Amino acid sequence: MKTSFDVIVIGAGVMGASIAAALVESGLDVALMEKGIAGGQGATRDTGGIVRGLELDPALRPLTSRGAHHGSTGIVHALFEQALKRTGVAYIASSEVCGKYLEAVGTEGTENIELHASVGALDNGRFSSFCDGECLLIERNGGMVDARVAVSNLCRYVAEKATFLDHLAVDRCVELDGKVQVHAGKLCLEATWVVDACGASGPLPRPYGAVHARTIPFTRLSCDQAPSMPVIAHSLNTYLLPLGRNLMQVGGQRRQRAEHAYQLNLSPMDNEQDVMERVARLGYDRDHTLPVVTQVAWDAYTDDGRPLIGRSTNKSHLYLATGFCGIGFKMAPNVAELLAFELGGRMAGMQMEADHRSIMEAFCPSRFTEVALS
Ligand SMILES: Cc1cc2nc3c(=O)[nH]c(=O)nc-3n(C[C@H](O)[C@H](O)[C@H](O)COP(=O)(O)OP(=O)(O)OC[C@H]3O[C@@H](n4cnc5c(N)ncnc54)[C@H](O)[C@@H]3O)c2cc1C
Repeated sequence: MKTSFDVIVIGAGVMGASIAAALVESGLDVALMEKGIAGGQGATRDTGGIVRGLELDPALRPLTSRGAHHGSTGIVHALFEQALKRTGVAYIASSEVCGKYLEAVGTEGTENIELHASVGALDNGRFSSFCDGECLLIERNGGMVDARVAVSNLCRYVAEKATFLDHLAVDRCVELDGKVQVHAGKLCLEATWVVDACGASGPLPRPYGAVHARTIPFTRLSCDQAPSMPVIAHSLNTYLLPLGRNLMQVGGQRRQRAEHAYQLNLSPMDNEQDVMERVARLGYDRDHTLPVVTQVAWDAYTDDGRPLIGRSTNKSHLYLATGFCGIGFKMAPNVAELLAFELGGRMAGMQMEADHRSIMEAFCPSRFTEVALS
């Protein structure tokens, strides 16, 4: 078996699968390793898959904007597109929040945005009497991606063109003379660069206090009529995701955090009640709305809400791509493209362009080490 690669990516959630596929497409020799099945173990398993470009944090916009940063959009964008249903995404929010979103659009992409002074334009006014004083913003280009389809197609692409090893947990990585040894049971592989895309469940050392696991509860409800598109309800701090004509997924807000995912309490507790109260405030009456299942999933979070993407320390050949704070699906294609550009450049011994460096600076893992040391 081949044991030496340009890059080994650990973790085949949406991020690892996207990064590996983009690296393969850029011509690098890649292995993708996953402890379970593709997308089946971590945050990706339970994702809502809402894909939207609008983002309030300016630093995150390069990760969420549509279109390519370097050259043309590649295989990852194409496979996402295949799994995407462009229903549009509705934001129900105050005029102030809608204004902030509009600022985020800038001059590009305004043709894709509709602003309404009331929510009456959504689903024949079904939310109108419950959302008095709220505005409606519709991002026409947004939609929902079928997470399982997207990730399994990405992994299939990697398996066909490079190496995909599932059911193989990485135990540790050892850096030696500009290479990294990756140990998984009896197997030892080697690569020039390794990307840890293990989400919140990764066993590899990360900068102290940089990333933690946080629960994301959700309830699936049967209802008289699911919304026609995903709804982000700002003042209620939740989302409604249509899963079928009479089925929707709604996010709950009872959260807890821990250093590692395995330390989280994943029992539903009072999340179902919390979700029922939220949907009642949007006009779904209890007689026609039944909770079908409540689950508690998790993702990797950081304290500043921005992911960690970059070398784990200045000289390390170990890259981190984690801490996607509950919105990794909307960022995955761009993160993959940016990392493929960067690692391709490093393999070719090139200096990174100033534009690229300035985008990546906001995500540099060492921002947490610096805070911890000061
Ligand atoms: C309920 C819910 C709803 C969400 N809704 C949305 C949404 O609508 N839109 C959006 O943009 N985002 C959403 N998210 C967030 C999004 O799903 C995550 O940010 C994203 O899936 C993170 O992907 P990841 O690849 O970084 O991590 P993960 O999916 O956690 O993948 C990590 C992978 O690494 C593997 N791994 C761990 N340790 C090892 C090891 N030692 N060796 C090998 N493999 C290992 C795991 O098995 C896992 O497959 C949601 C999340 C949840 C939980």
